Amino acid sequence: MSGRAAPNGDCTVVVGCQWGDEGKGKVVDVFAEDADVVARYQGGANAGHTVHVGDHEFVLHQVPSGILHPGKRCLLGNGVVVDLAQFFSECDHLAERGVDVRGRIGVSTRAHVVFAHHRALDAALETRAKHKIGTTGRGIGPAYEDKTGRRGVRIGDLLDRALAEETVARSLQGARERLEWLGADPASAGTLEEALAPASRLPDVAADVGLEIWEARAKGRRVLLEGAQGTALDVDHGTYPYVTSSNTTAGAASAGAGIGPTAIDSVIGVVKAYTTRVGNGPLPTGFDERMDAFMRKLGAEFGATTGRPRRCGWFDAVLAAYAARVNGLTGIAVTKLDVLDTLPELKIATAYRLGDAAEHPFPPTVQELDQAEPVYETLPGWTKPTTEARRLADLPANARAYLDRIEELAGVPIAMVSVGTRRNQVIRGVAA
Ligand code: GDP
Repeated sequence: MSGRAAPNGDCTVVVGCQWGDEGKGKVVDVFAEDADVVARYQGGANAGHTVHVGDHEFVLHQVPSGILHPGKRCLLGNGVVVDLAQFFSECDHLAERGVDVRGRIGVSTRAHVVFAHHRALDAALETRAKHKIGTTGRGIGPAYEDKTGRRGVRIGDLLDRALAEETVARSLQGARERLEWLGADPASAGTLEEALAPASRLPDVAADVGLEIWEARAKGRRVLLEGAQGTALDVDHGTYPYVTSSNTTAGAASAGAGIGPTAIDSVIGVVKAYTTRVGNGPLPTGFDERMDAFMRKLGAEFGATTGRPRRCGWFDAVLAAYAARVNGLTGIAVTKLDVLDTLPELKIATAYRLGDAAEHPFPPTVQELDQAEPVYETLPGWTKPTTEARRLADLPANARAYLDRIEELAGVPIAMVSVGTRRNQVIRGVAA
């Protein structure tokens, strides 16, 4: 581990490098201290970022994790799909818990809206699917379908009452017909009045997010772009079709926030010190049943949005190297190192064996991934607590060796190590 400082560029992207749940919320919360603006660029209420501040736990679904730092501006970019009812209820809930959200949150007028009828469609499609994806049921897929089908409703449409009624009624009618065709109850789509209700609060938050970010940068302010889900769930670069409906990788940060790629200075990839996956689809380094149950308990691996148990496995360096390449990572943040504190021995997948190839890069198809055999390297554990470490030098030698190996195999310097859920349980760019 180089101990190099976390890049302090004007605009940093934080992106998940596995199947989501890497601890991005905590990493963004830590980096947000040095930022002025925090923006999300894709996904929606399917995200569940858990942040601990003191004794308080916050689970943020749509509001950027920067909200827990007073005074930071938090934005939802055009690439996000927004469930307005849930979004405002999340804002109200934060306010009730003492977080000042007034004037601090902006939502792109170009962002698409998720309605109850998208959630109803999500459930109906998943119930009838032959190959179940294991979606969070938040309506994200159907909302993105409407967006690319050019029949979506954008935040800007809802600012004009007449336009709102017309576009939402059309969207609702389309969903009802589709639900009927799927054999589901069209009434589960909800009513026009319900769909339009949250729009009255939009004037307080509607914003030109791309312009705001551009202007913030021009004034020398620091911007953090917060990714949701992870690289292996990207609709193009992930384990298709067991993926989410958006591009989760760093390239999407530019398109989804409304800034050019040259405005981005650094990309931090978040990796958990082992691997987890929620939902269906391949997990090459997955544990056997006994170890899976053991690690799930040890790492509290249950989904923040759905409560579903996550499958667990060894650290997959093939995936990490792939994520480094497709995201153009400039640094890595390793989370949950402390979860491995009691294990006597650890494994890292250093390669995949596939067909005749002894070393195969992360394959593009799930069929190949299902056949890929991870090649493991075994490293000794450290069997000492790491939770109090605040400098690299505080870590046991075997923990440092484990991190060194991750850094070497991923080919990217480690910028941060997280050793617990709390804000201060972190090692940041400290030379050993
Ligand atoms: P995200 O979606 O990537 O933000 O990840 P989640 O919030 O779903 O899951 C991360 C979980 O791990 C949360 O409950 C965090 O509080 C917790 N977490 C984050 N970093 C650490 C860490 O270094 N150690 C431990 N033990 N837990 C952590």
